[in-house]
Amino acid sequence: MTIPYKIYLDEKEIPKQWYNVRADMKNKPAPLLNPATKEPMKKEELEAVFCSELVAQELNETDAYIDIPTEIRDFYKMYRPSPVVRAYCLEKALGTPAHIYYKFEGNNTSGSHKLNSAIAQAYYAKKQGLTGVTTETGAGQWGTALSMACAYFGLDCKVYMVKVSYEQKPFRREVMRTYGASVTPSPSMDTEIGRKINEEFPGTTGSLGCAISEAVEKAVSTPGYRYVLGSVLSQVLLHQTVIGLEAKTALEKYGVKPDVIIGCAGGGSNLGGLVSPFVGEMLRGENEYEIIAVEPASCPSLTRGKYIYDFCDTGKVCPLAKMYTLGSGYIPAPNHAGGLRYHGMSSILSQLYDDKYIKAVTAKQTDVFEAAQYFAKTEGILPAPESSHAIKVAIDEAKKCIETGEEKNILFGLTGTGYFDMVAYQKFNDGEMENYIPTDEEIAASLAQCPKV
Ligand SMILES: *Cc1c(COP(=O)(O)O)cnc(C)c1O
Repeated sequence: MTIPYKIYLDEKEIPKQWYNVRADMKNKPAPLLNPATKEPMKKEELEAVFCSELVAQELNETDAYIDIPTEIRDFYKMYRPSPVVRAYCLEKALGTPAHIYYKFEGNNTSGSHKLNSAIAQAYYAKKQGLTGVTTETGAGQWGTALSMACAYFGLDCKVYMVKVSYEQKPFRREVMRTYGASVTPSPSMDTEIGRKINEEFPGTTGSLGCAISEAVEKAVSTPGYRYVLGSVLSQVLLHQTVIGLEAKTALEKYGVKPDVIIGCAGGGSNLGGLVSPFVGEMLRGENEYEIIAVEPASCPSLTRGKYIYDFCDTGKVCPLAKMYTLGSGYIPAPNHAGGLRYHGMSSILSQLYDDKYIKAVTAKQTDVFEAAQYFAKTEGILPAPESSHAIKVAIDEAKKCIETGEEKNILFGLTGTGYFDMVAYQKFNDGEMENYIPTDEEIAASLAQCPKV
């Protein structure tokens, strides 16, 4: 059967349920802990911060399938199903016998997969009768997606944007404001934690961990508000399983079973969403896949971090999570994949990695941009720097097949487009891009600050 360049599903084939991989995991991810008592977070405690229905999803380890409400599916129909693309042109350029496929999530205004969870979170907030939500954004993709989702449901949206991005990516900021969000550079003078950080570190350009603390503080101190997060949490990973479920359906239509599945890993939501249905088959003993997480060499939580309880934010107001972490005080050297700069990793992916269901590798920034450029030239899409980590490793895998002659099926997640990352591309084109790799001492010093549990 000839496989088309693009495998499109019908609208009716948008999944009706998300898949909750925890239901099939023998070793469940460790629970979130209250940072004061070190006891598992109770439902009521979480509900002070998060929407009730999302808390229920966060704590649900037993239902393998969770219904996607009609209102969310209707929104999905505006930009889903997203295509699985057979990268014929890339294969040809490489001269590889491998078959390369990618699931493209960049076909919406937010430019990334983040909209899949933003719309779900906004829906549950609206359903609960809330007036608004707060969040943080680093590179801006999550803030943009949430602004779109809040505009759709008529919710207020308050975004704390890491100051360095706020200044460097003014267009991202304006997209959010166009959708009606208010955008505040973090650390701000709006919150107690923001004022404290500004005082302690004058002139600081902020970090994701710091913006999270501000957004949480604002949410719990504003009536009718809750906090929402764009990655790391199990609920986010759950929503992102539409990626993997669609990809699996599309490939099955052509009898294709991926041998290798690759995704970039920041907080783990796109990779978790892409691989969950496949990992489910592994967990149930039905199939085998090779799954590879790709992280930046500058922020290597899976490959060089430790599997321990850590703070999720700089202000230490969030619950403790057991995850592969570099320590919440770890400030990655400036790199150009803002979406991959978080110090920790989804607790689901951390457990799956610890149980050896997935592997992890790192990629250096300049190698990633070389792959990005090669991909742009051959496949036509200008990829996000984050996504390009997966491209880099997919190309490496395809090159290995040249030597072995194997016709492997390689599937990777192309999470977004890079149109707001032209400063990064400019650095690369001018030959001014650098690679930052932390020393063992730096990582050890940061890990020493983790809480004792
Ligand atoms: C945020 C982002 C990522 C990384 O986040 P995950 O939660 O690890 O998926 C990857 N790619 C793009 C385009 C992003 O916006």
